[in-house]
Order: sequence, then structure tokens, then C-alpha cells
Amino acid sequence: MRSFLEIHPNLVSEWSPVNELGPDQVSYGSNKPIIWNGVCGHTWTATPKNRGNNHGCPYCSGNKVLVGYNDLASVHQGVAAEWSARNLPTTPRQVTARSDKSFWWKCSTCGNEWKARIADRSEGHGCPFCAAVALEKRWQARRDAKQKLLDSKRHNRLIQNRQKQFAKDLENNAFRIAVIRYYSEQTGYLVVYDQIGRIGIPLQFFFPEKCAAIELTSHLKKGWKDWRYENAKNWLCLNSDIKLIRIIPQTGYKFENCKCVRLKNSSAEALNYTLTQVFKRLKIPMDIDVLRDYDKIRRYLEC
Ligand SMILES: [Zn+2]
Ligand SMILES: [Zn+2]
Repeated sequence: MRSFLEIHPNLVSEWSPVNELGPDQVSYGSNKPIIWNGVCGHTWTATPKNRGNNHGCPYCSGNKVLVGYNDLASVHQGVAAEWSARNLPTTPRQVTARSDKSFWWKCSTCGNEWKARIADRSEGHGCPFCAAVALEKRWQARRDAKQKLLDSKRHNRLIQNRQKQFAKDLENNAFRIAVIRYYSEQTGYLVVYDQIGRIGIPLQFFFPEKCAAIELTSHLKKGWKDWRYENAKNWLCLNSDIKLIRIIPQTGYKFENCKCVRLKNSSAEALNYTLTQVFKRLKIPMDIDVLRDYDKIRRYLEC
């Protein structure tokens, strides 16, 4: 017989003295249960044959449960708290924290139950339902951020287009007509557009109650006939006691027999200023801001 001492001299130090036989009295391949006192401090029973096959302390390796040392309840309290009632009568004290076995878990957050290996749970794997929700939340946040960026880009583009359109409109006589029309209607007085009235020829903006008219005269490049026509209009107004106010370009010809207000340039400020002056002459105080009222003015341009 070849004794355990002979074959595994390095392990005999763990052979417990409480065993009836010594390592020199037992065969290295014996199936007799022997008590071992591991260098780790644990005590367990194993056959010499098993020990010879490289089996060490079953508590340290996690193969056996030692309550208070390697059971799930002692090692991972939080994981053990999610132990499902479905696993009963097995409890977290009866399994090791490193066990490969699968058990049921009940999520402390969402209450759902799922099956997973204890070892995976000990390594930090959590509830798959909560993980899915968290993932969806992250995706949603990403989608929201993307949408927000698109919205702000679209918004900026709209603002840019509006600014471009506004700048273009300011150069345009039809827009100026729309501006005068809009503010004329805001005065609360009756205003008549381009109708043959008291003097027999049309006036652009005629205020019967004020006995006054506004003419936008920025187009005079047609020739002498036009000048004579406009001058005749001035005379007719003068003779009919109609106060005629003409808006003329900064460098344009100044008419006689009427009031002339110059439009300095095609900026919004110049237009605001000039129109304020015009309405002042009509004794109608007006708060004029073509940018502020741009959308409302544009409606007059389109109809
Ligand atoms: Zn041990
Ligand atoms: Zn959950």
C-alpha cells in the first residue's frame, strides 16, 4: 500500500489530528472520509482520493455553503433581498454567492421576476426589465436631443428666411403701400384707397374725416407727364382744402403745394421714422414698427 503521506507529503499538514488514523496509515486512493483542517482556517471532510485530485477547501472554492462565510445572504445582502418566494424552501443562506445554479429573482424596483445564475447576480447583473427600460430611456433621450437639434435648425432657417424676405420687402414699393395701408387702418379713421373722390382723380390714401391724403411718390421716373399730373393733383387738393402729404425719396424732387416727407433710405428705421412723421402731420399719433408688425403687414401684401 502506498500511503497518503508518501504520495502527497505537501498536504499532510492539513490532516486533522482528530482522525483515528494518520496519513501514513491510509492509502492515497482511499475512499474513507477524513477530516481536514485547511490552512484557510476551515474544517471539512473529504476522502484522500478526492484531496489527491486537487480538491481543496470546499468553502473557499464556493462548492459548499458555510453560513456566515460564503452564503449569498452574507456576501450579497442586496441580491439576497431579491430572492423570489418561488425558490422556497431553498433560501439565500443555503446557496453560495458563487453558485452556477439558476434561481428566481424578484426585482425590488419593478417587481418583475426572472431567472438568473447566482454567480451572474453576484457579479452585478440586475433586472433585465429595468435594464430594458433604462435602455429605452437612453434611446428616447438621444432621439429627443436629435429632434431638438433639428427643430432649432429649422427654427433658425425660418428666422433667416424671414429676415431675408424682410430685407427684400423693404426695397419694394408694393410693400411700402401695404405698410401705409396697414397703419392707416390702425388709425381708426375711415380710409379710402385710390378712388375718384372729391377732386375728380384718385388719391392713394384718402382720409375723408381728416380731409387729408397720403401719396407715396417714389416712382417718378416716367417723365414730364407724370410730374404735371402729380402737380395738378397738388393743386386740386389745395383748392379742395385737402391736406396732401407726399412721401418722397431722399434725393427726389420736392413738390410744391403739398407737404413732403422724405424717406431717407430703405431701412426699417427710416420707414418707421417717415411714417411716424406723416401720421404726426395728420395729427394721429401712431406707434410704428414695421418689423414688429411684419407678419400682419405681409397679409396686406398678399391680398
Ligand atoms: Zn477554506
Ligand atoms: Zn426591475
